[in-house]
Amino acid sequence: MNKYIFVTGGVCSSLGKGVAASSLGALLEGRGLNVRMVKCDPYINMDAGTMSPYQHGEVYVTDDGAETDLDLGNYARFTSGPLGRANSITTGQVYDAVIRKEREGRYLGRCVQVIPHITDEIKSRILTPAREDADTDVVIVEIGGTVGDIESIPFLEAARQLIHELGKTNAISVHLTLIPEVAGGELKTKPTQHSVKAMQEQGIQPDVLICRAPTMLDESTRRKIALFTNVDPDAVFTSYNVDTTIYEVPLIFFNQELDQVVLKKLGVESRHTDLTAWHSMTERFAVRKGKVRIGIVGKYMELHDAYKSVYEALFHGGLACGVEVEPVKIDSSRLEETDNQENILGPGAPGGGINGILVPGGFGQRGINGMVKAAAWARTNRIPYFGICLGMQIMVIDWGRNVLGWEDADSTEFNQDTKHPVISLLEEQVDVKNYGGTMRLGKSDTVTEPGTLIAAAYGQRTVSERHRHRYEFSNKYRGEMIESGLKIAAYTPDGSLVECVEWPEHPWGLGVQFHPEFKSKPTGASPLFRDFIAAARDCMRAAL
Ligand code: GLN
Repeated sequence: MNKYIFVTGGVCSSLGKGVAASSLGALLEGRGLNVRMVKCDPYINMDAGTMSPYQHGEVYVTDDGAETDLDLGNYARFTSGPLGRANSITTGQVYDAVIRKEREGRYLGRCVQVIPHITDEIKSRILTPAREDADTDVVIVEIGGTVGDIESIPFLEAARQLIHELGKTNAISVHLTLIPEVAGGELKTKPTQHSVKAMQEQGIQPDVLICRAPTMLDESTRRKIALFTNVDPDAVFTSYNVDTTIYEVPLIFFNQELDQVVLKKLGVESRHTDLTAWHSMTERFAVRKGKVRIGIVGKYMELHDAYKSVYEALFHGGLACGVEVEPVKIDSSRLEETDNQENILGPGAPGGGINGILVPGGFGQRGINGMVKAAAWARTNRIPYFGICLGMQIMVIDWGRNVLGWEDADSTEFNQDTKHPVISLLEEQVDVKNYGGTMRLGKSDTVTEPGTLIAAAYGQRTVSERHRHRYEFSNKYRGEMIESGLKIAAYTPDGSLVECVEWPEHPWGLGVQFHPEFKSKPTGASPLFRDFIAAARDCMRAAL
């Protein structure tokens, strides 16, 4: 019998529900269980693919090419079960499926309603990952939004029905709330009491509470919360603020025996306890020496979540190389407005010089010329440079403009009339009008050329990474690019598409058409992020 854990949040958003759910997943994996993670998103979009990174943070891409919510990125960093289309459920998908069935006449003339038709569709989707994967022991279902939101009601109702149908020992509710601190340092439990009441109004009695608080809750506060909420005192946990790293949260929960309480409630025997990977990660965190400053030159700089997996992967790279990584967020349009890059990237910049430049993925024209300037700066000043997707295309545009002397070299995404379209659309993409899910998406193989940085990083000929883009390196310029010195370091297996370019005679200048950040973990950094940070660290030390 598969076990289900429904994770909900109350009081307010941004309490770290994704991190809490993922950390619980990590602990249960540490107990030898096969854990699957599912996210329910109450928004009406079919998926996150068409949402602006400003609105909703990054779009996380899975192996099977689903464009999902960034919480799936958290799951991927904390747990190791497969993640794909079936692990991300949105209101849009649910209604789309129900309305299609209605049009096909599959409801046999009945009036189609939220209960039972929408809730049945939600329940069936929640049950799908375990149904399709016989190895599953536990499914953790995170319900997005905050209890009390109109949008999440059908998902909570589906959870209520499932808890009832599966039985209390097979399905439990874990509820995350906030314990605010008021003037004088007093911790307040009232919002938590109200939040649990809101859950009870939906017919769900939380079995476990995780309270987000500035510091560890004392025994009397936990007893008080328990008394008001019908939750056992030993099932009230604290997710206190950490000034180290979010990757410590699994161990913080472990020390409070969260996994033991959850397993007991679900009647599951733990197979073993192995949290070695998390312990060694915290050890590596503690012994980092020195700091490298990495300039991230992009266009969505105000919102940290817009490049979430990139920042996380940089941190992982730092862990692997024994250094702290300071991300320096640089809005590329600032570089467009000035010819004095020195004050933004060089030793004249606030806080000192940048030791490495990363241009992440992106869409649209704004800020592109600033990114090209950043690439040219890194190339000519021998600063390590890492281009991801758009960042690789930027390297090719810089090479066309500044090495081959084609002033108008560009991607046709930004200039349709350029005489030198060094980046352009594939034939099959030219007539695409529908923007949802029509890019080159998901995992595919890349074959590396021996003797290149990318081959050294992965240590293998064929690598598998994920894509999310529409434009490609234009093959008609391959010859001139190679003759002028640009290295083509990896291709698709049939050789038809360029997957990686590298700068010659440079400490570390590399761009890839795929997104290695999606597969990076704190317990195992992406090889390219690791080597980029190592190069930045070595350049920084050489300059001292
Ligand atoms: N806009 C570019 C393309 O569609 C790059 C996409 C990306 O960086 N993810 O090809």
